[in-house]
Amino acid sequence: MGGQGSEQNRQNQNRVYFSARLHGEIRDLCALHWPEETCGLLIASNAVPDRIQRVVVARNVADEPQKTFEIDPQTLIDTHRTVRETGEEIVGCFHSHPNGNALPSNTDRDRADEHAFLWLIVATNHTGALASGMYRIMHQKMIDADSGENIRYFQRCKLIEQDI
Ligand SMILES: [Zn+2]
Repeated sequence: MGGQGSEQNRQNQNRVYFSARLHGEIRDLCALHWPEETCGLLIASNAVPDRIQRVVVARNVADEPQKTFEIDPQTLIDTHRTVRETGEEIVGCFHSHPNGNALPSNTDRDRADEHAFLWLIVATNHTGALASGMYRIMHQKMIDADSGENIRYFQRCKLIEQDI
């Protein structure tokens, strides 16, 4: 009815719930693999897609794992198959940035082909995990004059740590 309700909806869409334990495990793992990028998948139940229920760690099969990441395709296939049977879905991915920057790169944006997919980025350096950023890629039906493709941008999400 009023503007308040829609405002609330908009904010809710930007919230992602994640257990502190799971988040800590991912951060530790990313720190451990420095200076290489670590990667994996974020899984939620179909009923509550904004709450990360578990993660699947994948092998980074990129040729230059210090510069980029590529999730092991076998892990993708296996996970797609598993979630179909468990009533879950792959709602996002995570990877680390060994340069210590938690912002998505232009490469990340170019590769974010699935609208509304979550992207968790963990910044790491030689001392460990620094910061994390959770983003949702938005594809908007506006043709970009340069690329001729739909506009896409990362929307920052509020990461709410909640133990479940
Ligand atoms: Zn990246």
